[in-house]
Amino acid sequence: MEAVAVAAAAEARERLRASFASGRTRPAAWRAAQLRGLLRMAAEMEAEICAALRADLAKPHTESYVHEISLVTSSCKFALKNLKKWMQPKKVPAGVLTFPSTTRVTPEPLGVVLIVSASNYPFYGLILQPPEAMKGGDRQAVLAVDPVIGAIAAGNTVVLKPSEIAPATSSLLADLLPRYVDSSCIKVVEGGIAETTALLEQKWDKIFYTGNSKVGRIVMSFAAKHLTPVVFELGGKCPVVVDSNVDLHVAAKRIAAGKWGCNNGQACISPDYVITTKSFAPKLLDSLKKVLDKFYGKDSLRSEDLSRIVNSNHFNRLKALMDEEMVSDKILFGGQSDEQQLKIAPTLFLDAPLDSAIMKEEIFGPLLPIITVDKIHESFALINSMTKPLAAYLFSKDSKLKRQFERNVSAGGMIFNDTGIHLTNQNLPFGGVGESGMGAYHGTFSFDAFTHRKAVLDRSFLGEAKARYPPYTRGKLKI
Ligand code: NAD
Repeated sequence: MEAVAVAAAAEARERLRASFASGRTRPAAWRAAQLRGLLRMAAEMEAEICAALRADLAKPHTESYVHEISLVTSSCKFALKNLKKWMQPKKVPAGVLTFPSTTRVTPEPLGVVLIVSASNYPFYGLILQPPEAMKGGDRQAVLAVDPVIGAIAAGNTVVLKPSEIAPATSSLLADLLPRYVDSSCIKVVEGGIAETTALLEQKWDKIFYTGNSKVGRIVMSFAAKHLTPVVFELGGKCPVVVDSNVDLHVAAKRIAAGKWGCNNGQACISPDYVITTKSFAPKLLDSLKKVLDKFYGKDSLRSEDLSRIVNSNHFNRLKALMDEEMVSDKILFGGQSDEQQLKIAPTLFLDAPLDSAIMKEEIFGPLLPIITVDKIHESFALINSMTKPLAAYLFSKDSKLKRQFERNVSAGGMIFNDTGIHLTNQNLPFGGVGESGMGAYHGTFSFDAFTHRKAVLDRSFLGEAKARYPPYTRGKLKI
């Protein structure tokens, strides 16, 4: 590890520790001022943010605005509205054994937190709608820089380490944040593995990591050294089950919007594979093809509405998944790619073998295998035979099937008859389970992720119980 990186990481941590110790971040007024700063940044810098996202991912402007910028706005507004309520100590009933006393749960900031983020939503957030609906001006909001908002609202000082794989957005964040928020308490440290490792060597009061589970294991090993609590927002293979009892056209549009309409499949909650019955598969395939033609035209590689693959490593990884011998002849739609532009067309596969890499690894790109089963209920066992996904989706009008899916399938989150949109609801926790992550955020859950709930008991000097004190005698117990 480079000594310079270690020294910079240690210095950043020390400066933020001193700021936290000064008590500066505790008042609601400071927290609200930072949140308002982020709101101003999102409003004033829309063009710059969209340009950075276009440079990093060729992300369409609508996606940048709807999936990233408006997320910041919505989340900041939600935090501002609820801040005072969240900060209030909560009275709880006092127990008989401690009579007379009062008891409460007091939220307190954790201290200095480290947020390590991923490249796919460098501002971060999603709302999944077909391009046609977005163009209609339906700009619903969710949020970005989301963990930072939770950390600030909870009164912590923060180091944010953006992903070096999205360099334009990383450098823009490093430039913008000090102009809009208190730089003595919120700092961006840029860099790759060396800088992240140097940061991880330091002692933090919480580490919030978004990324793949392989690096998650590395982060966990650093956290273990200092017994640092972690939130992990990881990925996995998100299944979409499509029953025959559906509105097929709407289902196909919503699957496409969640897959290719979000960074061309480079999203943690992107549909990773579809399960349907053998008899229904031809209809579903046909509908998906029609929707894809309508969204992106016959030559999707030239569509301005499709993001590119983030870098050549990921491009080559995805090409290898497509080109695997047992998979390449299962392509029924798409399959085109352009190495120079780092673009891969939406590609559908029918019945890729379950032991192929495309069915074993998280795809994180525009490839969508469709797996067929005889009966739709067989999908439960198939999903449960894999690691627990971040999200699971079922399209069906059958309420009994929905209830069975909810009871039998474990996933970070679940949606019936749509994809991805659960993360737009600030009242729902967003996070994984098992291999897809630990801990959750968004809305109140973001505040909770960066807060310690302190048990406080305030006792009167009255109410002495003799039996509590030695010498212990039977006589005292009778009293
Ligand atoms: P990435 O390559 O940008 O890496 C994420 C972070 O880890 C970066 O900040 C990077 O600097 C750091 N890092 C990488 N290698 C490291 C190492 N060896 N040691 C220390 N730090 C290291 O992003 P990625 O991991 O490719 O992101 C994609 C993954 O993230 C997918 O699995 C996706 O599903 C998941 N993801 C999850 C969420 C969520 O909210 N659950 C959101 C976005 C992405």
